[in-house]
Amino acid sequence: MSNSSSKNYKKKLKLLENYNKQYYQNQKPLVSDKEYDELKSEILELEKKYGFNDLKSPSVKVGYKPSKKFEKFKHKVKMLSLSNAFNEKDLINFQKKNINFLALNDNYEFEYSAEPKIDGISASLNYKNGNLVKGLSRGDGEEGEDITENLKTIKDIPLNISHKDFPKEIDIRGEVFIETNDFKKIQKDFANPRNAASGSLRQKDPKKTELIPLKFIAYTFGFNSSIRESKQSDFIKNLDKWGFKTSDLNKTIKGINNLVKYHAEIEKKRFSINYDIDGIVYKINDFSLQKRLGFMSTAPRWAIAHKFSANYSVTKILDIDIQVGRTGALTPVAKVKPVNIGGVIVSNATLHNEDEINRKDIRIGDTVKIERAGDVIPHVISVDKNLRNENIKKFIFPKKCPCGFETIKEFNKVTKKIDAVRRCPDIGFDCNRIAKEKLKHFVSKDALNIEGLGKKVIEKFWDLKFIKFPDDIFSLNFQTISRLEGWGSQSAENLKNSINKSKKIKLDKFIYSLGIRHIGQENAKLISEFLGSYSNFIKLKDQKKIEDLSNIDGIGETQINSLKNFFKNKTNLKVIFSLGKILTFEKIIIKKNEGVFSNKILMFTGKLSNISRAEAKSIVENNGGKIVSNISKNLDFLIAGEKPTTRKIKLANELKVKILDQSDFEKISKLR
Ligand code: NAD
Repeated sequence: MSNSSSKNYKKKLKLLENYNKQYYQNQKPLVSDKEYDELKSEILELEKKYGFNDLKSPSVKVGYKPSKKFEKFKHKVKMLSLSNAFNEKDLINFQKKNINFLALNDNYEFEYSAEPKIDGISASLNYKNGNLVKGLSRGDGEEGEDITENLKTIKDIPLNISHKDFPKEIDIRGEVFIETNDFKKIQKDFANPRNAASGSLRQKDPKKTELIPLKFIAYTFGFNSSIRESKQSDFIKNLDKWGFKTSDLNKTIKGINNLVKYHAEIEKKRFSINYDIDGIVYKINDFSLQKRLGFMSTAPRWAIAHKFSANYSVTKILDIDIQVGRTGALTPVAKVKPVNIGGVIVSNATLHNEDEINRKDIRIGDTVKIERAGDVIPHVISVDKNLRNENIKKFIFPKKCPCGFETIKEFNKVTKKIDAVRRCPDIGFDCNRIAKEKLKHFVSKDALNIEGLGKKVIEKFWDLKFIKFPDDIFSLNFQTISRLEGWGSQSAENLKNSINKSKKIKLDKFIYSLGIRHIGQENAKLISEFLGSYSNFIKLKDQKKIEDLSNIDGIGETQINSLKNFFKNKTNLKVIFSLGKILTFEKIIIKKNEGVFSNKILMFTGKLSNISRAEAKSIVENNGGKIVSNISKNLDFLIAGEKPTTRKIKLANELKVKILDQSDFEKISKLR
């Protein structure tokens, strides 16, 4: 990734910040929600692709900081956002992830509480001994604005509750909104009902709030001194009993197909409902499962908002381009007649791979439906075969890479299927396409991070034959560069400086920079911590040494094989030897973690009951421990579940490693 991607990322973040400020604080959205959501997904996509992060990112922050107009207060329990689903596939993924996390049977059916997603603004009402004492807006999720007096003007919000089972202290959370009929009366002052509700609620003078007939529907709690219910649906029933309004559209549902049915039913009658809703929220109904699933940085794992209406457009395929990635994957991209989808002009759409083209029988000249919902990269959904010109031919996917190599389709040992992706088999620098992509990766932000050497510059230097291998970057002739069109002595000097600066590097960044397939940032970090130095890394030229890496939890057969292939290639070896002479490596400092497993090394064998390996691993890591996948004398505990591998138990006994069963593990981790 280039410096220009990093600049682009920062620029987008800044833009989003401004949109947030205008939207959340001033009720003056500068763009449509669609446009906003697209910008947000573009930011998230850049983070996923390049590993960028920022404290202001929508991946870690919700909403916008409280306005100075109000006093701010910390929420006892954070007020987060919700993850989004746009189609059935997203829902299936959501369910699958949760099933895996909770180690349930593949065909387990959760019961969901399905609730309309009211498009208003959320508020948290703190009740102590039955009295409303404080009302906060969401703010940035951690701190909200004190809008107690404004909230008190809303008739749906009870000021006192005397019901005997109402908790001693509880934050009741719900949505403040305005009904469509009422909105019509004040329409001229606001862009939409949501902004009208937010603007009216957050008036400095509560008397002004009182003039607007705001409504409140309750749906959850934040802090709660005594949770008596075991299900979300029971909690909603209690909300009713305690005197709060809840939605008539709330329903408990089992099975993804029934969620989809309900979604379609509500979407159809959406405009006849007297308030705006922009989707349906599904929450896993069982509180004990919710507790185990917990939260990600901006949303709970156990809930998802299934949004209404996707963005489609119809256009024509002008050509199909084959792009080759750094790891050799051939990706077909449809060049389409530019079309406006949700305010964005789309001229490329991914066709994913060869199988997808065959399955949908996509041809050059076809009229196609393109979707751009949630995804940043638009994709072709279907072909309108009625509009197909009889003369157009089937698209034959090239069997050769544009570099001339025959391509291959690999057998995937995990799925036991032939991969859908066709690849150029080169693992060195013989394929020009791959070599060029590797260079772009080498200089990218999370690798060498060479400022001023973006994708375009790499392309230019490549065409001029200045560079072919990563080490060529360190022998560039800056005099020649300064004479190139668009360059000068200052920009050449700047580039020289940033190249020199990049010579001091952390080992994990270096390993990542080599662009070895299946060795992303995370794996590069694990390998670098395990090896500790460049001189140990270079020893991997001995294929037997690569096997040792299987001791690292997270490094499996796929990574080992990929490393073996990489180190077998003579050009790769030449490049890393040469780079070793040019670069200096920073010392590796391994941070110590706090917790009951602080600095302990653990390993699991056998099946754990009622808890997935992922959950167990996260418990160990959250408690300062480390998980490995091979037994050695350094191991502190072997946790044996059901049917452990006998060989592992025997070896652990021989090496005098302490063996714990699941209940010991749970006791230490305070799970029971
Ligand atoms: P969100 O609105 O997508 O989802 C979270 C919110 O859903 C909660 O805070 C809560 O208020 C609400 N909600 C409604 N019913 C609920 C229920 N039954 N259970 C739980 N929550 C329920 O997320 P967000 O982070 O508040 O905001 C993102 C939205 O705001 C996007 O749709 C975005 O387009 C829009 N936005 C637009 C602009 C703009 O400039 N146009 C700027 C910022 C945000």
